[in-house]
Amino acid sequence: MSITVVGSVAFDSVQTPSGSYDRQLAGAATYFSLAASYFTDVRVVAVVGEDFAPEHQAVFDARNIDTQGVERAAGKSFFWAGSYLTNLNEAKTLQTDLNVFADFAPKIPEAYQNSEFLFLANIDPVLQRRVRDAMPRVKLVGGDTMNYWINDHRENLLRVLETLDILLINDTETKLLAQNPNPIKAAHAVLDLGPKSLVVKHGEYGATAFFGAQAFTSAARPFRAPALPLVEVMDPTGAGDSFAGGFFGYLASQPELTPAVYRRAMFYGGVMGSFAVERFGTERLQSLTRAEIEDRFALFRELTHLD
Ligand code: AMP
Repeated sequence: MSITVVGSVAFDSVQTPSGSYDRQLAGAATYFSLAASYFTDVRVVAVVGEDFAPEHQAVFDARNIDTQGVERAAGKSFFWAGSYLTNLNEAKTLQTDLNVFADFAPKIPEAYQNSEFLFLANIDPVLQRRVRDAMPRVKLVGGDTMNYWINDHRENLLRVLETLDILLINDTETKLLAQNPNPIKAAHAVLDLGPKSLVVKHGEYGATAFFGAQAFTSAARPFRAPALPLVEVMDPTGAGDSFAGGFFGYLASQPELTPAVYRRAMFYGGVMGSFAVERFGTERLQSLTRAEIEDRFALFRELTHLD
């Protein structure tokens, strides 16, 4: 099984209470593919600029991530600057420069066409929809977005939501998208926009899945997965994308999508999110082992098991 992911491959400058860094390799597709690479084959569709050096390519190569679909263009890579100084749970965006993403026309390598899974990581919804349409043979489509696109590109985003099996967004984005402050009503209003299921991420408090009438099992009830209480969160950047990578990667590694698999996938999402935030940037996600992942999964189990 393999996942094709489209999303930002970027450079980030980030400030957190634990420190800061300048123009480090990041982006939604980068965090997602690193996290998912511990579970399944991953192929990336994106564009980078002339600042994307061999050392950055090596990060993908070390995890056997297929980057044939990462185009090199003249100019600079996507750049994002954010701060967590006032709220560790939510980034304050200081700067977003689309750069080479501004005129990106995604080309899907022929070798990607047999991917069963497609993940539309955070990027312009026009590009997400284009990639979705260019991959008619995929079996399961997941997606993510953020306030930037919900506020200013809503119509385009709605055209993506109608194609999704699973949408993964956080609490604030759910309420913003639904234009409803009640978390349950907001979740159902989002499901009414098209996604068959919705995973709402609650930052340090875990995530909840909601299912629409067309979802994988009839009358599936919501399911809540925990997050791991960590003593120190160094850098929350990429937690959501790493959650999505662990979640979707685990789904893609399983022979069948059952309710139990969906639930376990939410735990693996939490596991990968918790690793991501322990170090700055993508550092921790670059050097994990499967044994460390399984140990932490066991911790998540202990945290919530009653008997
Ligand atoms: P998150 O998992 O939500 O913390 O995602 C963090 C990543 O999203 C960062 O590495 C950024 O480079 C990337 N990012 C920030 N803003 C955008 C945007 N408007 N579109 C796509 N990617 C973004």
